[in-house]
Amino acid sequence: MITRLSQLFLRTLREDPADAEVPSHKLLVRAGYVRRAAPGVYTWLPLGLRTLRKIEEIVREEMNAIGGQEMLFPALLPREPYETSNRWTEYGNNLFRLKDRRGTDMLLGPTHEEMFASAVKDMYSSYKDFPVTLYQIQTKYRDEERPRAGVLRGREFIMKDSYSFDMTDAGLDEAYARHRRAYQNIFNRLEIDYAICKATSGAMGGSASEEFLAVSEVGEDTFVRATNSDYAANVEAVITPAPAEVPIEGQPAAVEYQTPDAPTIDSLVDWAHAENIEVAGRAVTGADTLKCMVVKIRDARPDAEWELAGVLLPGDRALDEKRLEAALEPAEFELASEEDFAKNRFLAKGYVGPRSLNANGVTVYADPRVVKGSSWITGADAPNRHVVGLVAGRDFEVDHYIEAAEVKEGDRAPDGEGTLTLERGIELGHIFQLGRKYTEAFDVQILDENGKRATPTMGSYGIGITRMLAVLAEQRHDDKGLRWPVEIAPYQVHVAVANKDAAALEAGAKLVEELDAAGLEVLFDDRAKVSPGVKFKDAELLGMPFVAILGRAFADGIIELRIRGGETLEVPASEIVSRLLELVRG
Ligand code: ATP
Ligand code: MG
Repeated sequence: MITRLSQLFLRTLREDPADAEVPSHKLLVRAGYVRRAAPGVYTWLPLGLRTLRKIEEIVREEMNAIGGQEMLFPALLPREPYETSNRWTEYGNNLFRLKDRRGTDMLLGPTHEEMFASAVKDMYSSYKDFPVTLYQIQTKYRDEERPRAGVLRGREFIMKDSYSFDMTDAGLDEAYARHRRAYQNIFNRLEIDYAICKATSGAMGGSASEEFLAVSEVGEDTFVRATNSDYAANVEAVITPAPAEVPIEGQPAAVEYQTPDAPTIDSLVDWAHAENIEVAGRAVTGADTLKCMVVKIRDARPDAEWELAGVLLPGDRALDEKRLEAALEPAEFELASEEDFAKNRFLAKGYVGPRSLNANGVTVYADPRVVKGSSWITGADAPNRHVVGLVAGRDFEVDHYIEAAEVKEGDRAPDGEGTLTLERGIELGHIFQLGRKYTEAFDVQILDENGKRATPTMGSYGIGITRMLAVLAEQRHDDKGLRWPVEIAPYQVHVAVANKDAAALEAGAKLVEELDAAGLEVLFDDRAKVSPGVKFKDAELLGMPFVAILGRAFADGIIELRIRGGETLEVPASEIVSRLLELVRG
């Protein structure tokens, strides 16, 4: 097919839009792929829509290949199913709620577990109907607190969401593995640089869960990768390898000291150096000190009260609130307030140690490094006093181990394979084993082989289609413009006539006919009154992978073939069609 730039609904911009911060956003707007309609809401212009449809098609092919059946739910949904799952409330301000003319509550769907679970309940009743995988490519609505970077985080966006239903846990494992492979195929075909990260299951509950993160500096998610293996995980999901327990016998008794000038970890370490205090025969470091953070925790029951708790961390590490939040989920936590300290007189602010927590029935959570037999310098529960040689399992007890300490670059990898690096990424897809949460909530009852009622188990798998387009623009661009992979570029070949000669224009018109006849998709810059310089700039901005230019050299029968982001070839006019065919077909 041939599209003529002289007729295409397109206006490229030389200036970056004022509200754009990240390169993909700037370029997609400047190149006329998308246009802002409202904050976080975008219009797809002809070029953008072509690429979007191609991405959709790749996802569709891979979903069909694993036996997914495509269907389509509405975006406008009734309240009841979301009431059943409690997400009408849980979703909070992220949910677009509205009323119809009769005053009936409705919503714009943020994700569709409820609808799929109830459809399966209504239509299926026997184990013979299972397993089944259903999917849709559909517009979602979320009133994001911070819509960002154009279509990267929109309030309206397109997602492929699929759902597997199985009668057995083994079946769910298989459905999960199939999706994992399908996602790998999709991201490999699109040439995306990504990592598969172990994830916490978050608010959805459930067990196995992984996120596909595109590696990108502008990403909002931090993840870790091991230097010597393909281990990768969300920071929230990193498991700290616990050191070996230490024998308690023979360790010196704890000793208390007056420490008037040691309110911080650094000053405490300085004090220990000045006093020649050693740990295991070496100088003290921050990692030998123990911080006792006082927090309060409230579990998920509606009538639950806040309860005081302690979180013990090696002194050289900050509390990572997101990790603690993920570890406690669905319970929530807050740091203890001045009021809490005032009310609980045994808490010596700045000098809290684990002993007073144990003695006053406060639950003690600890970092996995606080193993039995480990010895610490920590607060002695009185102003300006510290204790040295306080041994876990002898002088204080840990009630629960928890992942709450910050993860640092260079930490030992959980699989023992080297160390961790910290990187930033953009979540492109999420697969997880949901289990029976929704099928139970919707009371999906299926007769099993023995005629007994059973509840199927569910997996839920999402990929952001519109976000994927932004990620491709983000990972593949240069200072001049976009640079699409052939498979999803709006057009495979961009032909520009940069020569006022009537013969060149005529030859260009003939060339695009030939390319079209050969089955290629061609964008033809046939604009008569536009200078060669502008045409070249636009070609770079729009980002088609191959640009054929009929310019000055055309008088000598030469067409310039620019590979976007690569070399420029001089090709005799007689060979250009076959060269392009070779390049496009790869
Ligand atoms: P995020 O943490 O980025 O908000 P999420 O955990 O809310 O993502 P899911 O609910 O798992 O995302 O949705 C599945 C996929 O939909 C995501 O992996 C992402 O690709 C896409 N997605 C989610 N929210 C948005 C959004 N606001 N704009 C564009 N795509 C989105
Ligand atoms: Mg989200």
